Amino acid sequence: MYTVAAILSIIQHDDRRIYDEEQEISELAYDSRKIRKGANSLFFALKNVRDGHLFIADAYRKGVRSFVVSRKDIDFASYGDANFIVVRDTLSALQELAGFHRLQFTKPIIGITGSNGKTIVKEWLTQLLQPDKKVYQSPKSYNSQLGVALSLWNLSAEYDYAIIEAGISRPGEMSVLENMIKPDIGIFTNIGLAHANGFASKDVKLKEKLCLFSNCDTVVFASQYGIRSLLPAPTRKFSYGQEESDSVHILQTYEKGHGKTAIQIAFGEEVATLTVPFQDKASLENALICVTTLLLLGYPLKTVGHRLSALRPLDMRLQLKKGKNNSSIIDDTYSNDLASLQIALEFLYQQRQYKQKTLILSDMEGLNEHLRSKLASLMELQQLDRTILVGKGIFFLEAHIKGEVLLFETTEQLLGALKDMSFGNETILIKGSRAYHLEDVSNLLSAKSHETVLEINLKALEHNLQTYRSMLPPDVRMMAMVKAFSYGSGSYEVANLLQFNKVDYLTVAFADEGAELRQHGIELPIMVLSPDERAFETLVSYQLEPEVYSFRVLYALLHFLTARGIEDFPIHIKIDTGMHRLGFLPEELTKLSEVLQHSRQARVRSVLSHLAAAGSATHKAFTEEQIRLFVDSTAFLRERLGYDFIRHIANTSGIAGWPSAYMDMVRLGIGLYGIDMSGQLSLEAVGQLKTTITQIKELPAGATVGYDRKGVLQRDSRIATIKIGYADGYDRRFGNGVGEMSINGQTVKTVGSICMDMCMLDVTDIFAHEEDEVIVFPDLLKAAETIGTIPYELLVNISSRVKRVYFYD
Ligand SMILES: *Cc1c(COP(=O)(O)O)cnc(C)c1O
Repeated sequence: MYTVAAILSIIQHDDRRIYDEEQEISELAYDSRKIRKGANSLFFALKNVRDGHLFIADAYRKGVRSFVVSRKDIDFASYGDANFIVVRDTLSALQELAGFHRLQFTKPIIGITGSNGKTIVKEWLTQLLQPDKKVYQSPKSYNSQLGVALSLWNLSAEYDYAIIEAGISRPGEMSVLENMIKPDIGIFTNIGLAHANGFASKDVKLKEKLCLFSNCDTVVFASQYGIRSLLPAPTRKFSYGQEESDSVHILQTYEKGHGKTAIQIAFGEEVATLTVPFQDKASLENALICVTTLLLLGYPLKTVGHRLSALRPLDMRLQLKKGKNNSSIIDDTYSNDLASLQIALEFLYQQRQYKQKTLILSDMEGLNEHLRSKLASLMELQQLDRTILVGKGIFFLEAHIKGEVLLFETTEQLLGALKDMSFGNETILIKGSRAYHLEDVSNLLSAKSHETVLEINLKALEHNLQTYRSMLPPDVRMMAMVKAFSYGSGSYEVANLLQFNKVDYLTVAFADEGAELRQHGIELPIMVLSPDERAFETLVSYQLEPEVYSFRVLYALLHFLTARGIEDFPIHIKIDTGMHRLGFLPEELTKLSEVLQHSRQARVRSVLSHLAAAGSATHKAFTEEQIRLFVDSTAFLRERLGYDFIRHIANTSGIAGWPSAYMDMVRLGIGLYGIDMSGQLSLEAVGQLKTTITQIKELPAGATVGYDRKGVLQRDSRIATIKIGYADGYDRRFGNGVGEMSINGQTVKTVGSICMDMCMLDVTDIFAHEEDEVIVFPDLLKAAETIGTIPYELLVNISSRVKRVYFYD
């Protein structure tokens, strides 16, 4: 804990308003929604996508009394009993504080960077060191300017090592991270092409990454990446590879079968053969960098070999799955520590589809007095209906938890008891360490599936939302399109995330979709694009707001509202400015305004139109004309109606290319789901359709594959049958070599026709095994182009029988 007085002496500031210098600070906050322990939190008003200064009042209401701000125009008087520290840049101040805290830690800090594998290497190293060391690791992928600062803040003296991941997206960022982390040992995982944008070239990016090592004693790396000469001369270089200068020599590697690989290495005088339970290139690289690090830390080769053979592949991601009996399962069973528990709990509160909340929590490794008391105070703040504790070591929590608590000494006992317990209409967070294998519990509670899944990365969706938001002036509102199952990505799971991220409006196509959202915790206003007359009742009961596009719909609605005695019902007027799909034509507006003026049943909440070709340079003049017509039409309606409403016309391409179309609100659709038709933005892929190989066959040249013998083999081939077909939404036009998929990072083509539930791939030239994972659309834009369609269609065609699995990391 630091007092406010201590913090004042650590961070440089321009001004201060101090009420209580002795206030103790244990938590750093930057998101007012996530504040749990207000009084002991120091709130940093960061200028992220949304200006944190706007949330000071909210944080204050949640008990926060200490703030770091960069604006002086705050009404300090209305927060009379609070401390304010005024700095030039709030993020730098947070980093300064984190950097100071780091210096209090005297044991080695290991800093990891590289293009890929950072998180896995961090997790594996922790796993390998854990038998005899206490390891602190930065949680999940907290590797950014903010994430690293927050990670460092949780360091405490009880750990033997800290492992901190550092990631960058812009030039200049690494030296800031270096200054905070000051790693003693550096690990460089590899160089890839990930996130190449934002940098002039790969070389520039590499040099920037290496900044992390400017003051390290030792750097661990693979010599194949040629970074030796780029490291500072005094740094000890501890590499693996096949060169003379390598500290760890790789003599040979060979496949051992059953998914294992043997690696013969020489270290000093010793030679040994290690077995790694993986075969793919990336896992082998990650494992070798861990081996090299352990040898550097002084572990005998024999111990390293022993621990390595027990490495397990990780699905470290927090997943949201459909459970049995109308429930949602949040599965986070790879590791368990305080920081990741806190993240998982935050996610639990964010997903509001069910009121009832259950936590299944296993014991954690390495809990001492200090951590036990932190854990207890974290649990005291939770609002859970039921908590199931597994493992004696955390039974003490029973006294600190509200609601029902059940205790089980082992996972086996819990599994035995599950069939007699009732689960349903609730969200269940399952959080456990590897040793407790709570994934068995998760599997029992999850709904069954066939093995083709559409993985939805909610973190990526959040990133895309923020990308578009950052392009808008702060007073422009955001409507998010969740029609058609959120473009195939699922309904309330996505909507809950959008609600949490404070979009202003949601839009669905039909009233039933809106009702479904209302039944799963969505309180945002919802617009319905196609309000059918038979669904008016649903609109009213679920507070859904119809788009009204013709006199037929308007009269029917007014008639219905009159019969029900409803007044001021919110409606949205659609004007046709050139799309010629739905909407009132400009010449109908006089009549429309007269009808509306004379009816108190409905009140116009917004007026909208749709751009027909905002993404196309060829039709620039047409788009300009649509915007002009819209401005005129809305001005006319505003004058006639005598009151104000929201105006909106821009869809995703409109946001990307037409600032003059922002008006009062924009409607974000496909961009949210990671597809940027403009090619200008760095969006992240949200959906990943995956399946597995069921069987592999060796077939001679001349053999044919599939129905009607369409796939004729020109050479001796290896053919893989995979579990996806046109019934899953994999279009038949992808057959016979048109479709490309990816296996272990390698591209393959289809052979023969696509069947209903299966199809075949030519894997002759690649490394592939039965049960390997297959990525169906490695490049969605390209896939759409090859069969002459657009990505929208591929996304929404993914069949509802394909299980949606959500994760957030
Ligand atoms: C679907 C839709 C949008 C969103 O379009 P994108 O191109 O996906 O951004 C916007 N407005 C209306 C009326 C729509 O139907």
